[in-house]
Amino acid sequence: MGIRLIAGLALLAGMPVSAQGAMPDCGTGPAAAAAANAAGFDTLEWAPFRRPERGWAVYANKIAAEIATRCTIDTPGFAAALARWQVAHGLPATGVVDAPGFAVMNAGWTAARPRLPVASDGSCTPAPPGVLALASASESYGNKVIMLRRDALAAYRQLRAAAARELPPVDADWFRIFSGFRAPEADAQRCLVEGNCDGIVRAVCSVHRTGLAIDLHVGHAPGFGPDSSDDGNRRAMVRTLAYRWLVTNAARFGFANYVFEPWHWEFVPPSRSMASTRPPAPGKTK
Ligand SMILES: [Zn+2]
Repeated sequence: MGIRLIAGLALLAGMPVSAQGAMPDCGTGPAAAAAANAAGFDTLEWAPFRRPERGWAVYANKIAAEIATRCTIDTPGFAAALARWQVAHGLPATGVVDAPGFAVMNAGWTAARPRLPVASDGSCTPAPPGVLALASASESYGNKVIMLRRDALAAYRQLRAAAARELPPVDADWFRIFSGFRAPEADAQRCLVEGNCDGIVRAVCSVHRTGLAIDLHVGHAPGFGPDSSDDGNRRAMVRTLAYRWLVTNAARFGFANYVFEPWHWEFVPPSRSMASTRPPAPGKTK
């Protein structure tokens, strides 16, 4: 079995320096599960986001971060880490990446994203103009006018400064924002003028209406744009240093990813973070 260097390098490159300690023992664990993961990486037939997909390469970095391993995806050590995660979540300890386990992971990732207040008529309230701030030209991709909620923009600036410190010089377009706040009227206009009705069709209450969501340039495959959800493009995106760094570091700055879209990140204001507002469970405090 060949070692999948891409996944292994991806994890190391994206990891904070402080976490890059001694390599774990990746040779210990269920060998059959390791072989199944190596096969499924490119061939698993499933539909984790309703659209049929082949393989789970797009989600490999996120899965590895979730199960807290730096072992490459085809190793027994990776399978063992996954089996431990499965046990902790009440799932059969197969050590194999599959749809039911991924659904549990994704439910946790989704719960960590900001939720919109939805009115009884199904509408949602966009961010009031007063709380929005304008991103600078060097923060915008393609000279777009980018507005974000002030706290989200401040957090983005901290994130980008950290990326500049912690990564080698990267593509000048990486980490630039190509979409932030989107007003309902702008979505409607885009639908009318450009025939791009995604903003309306995708979600009545798109989180872009809160000013908390940012679409970041994390690279793309030749011939594709930075927001193309073509599977080949998504596979290229998740291999970039920018995306790999974000997967392991964006949470430090309050950002969570919608994993189907490697470019889409959402700022969770501290006051709305479950971790900071939920009181300790009775009897669980030490
Ligand atoms: Zn987005």
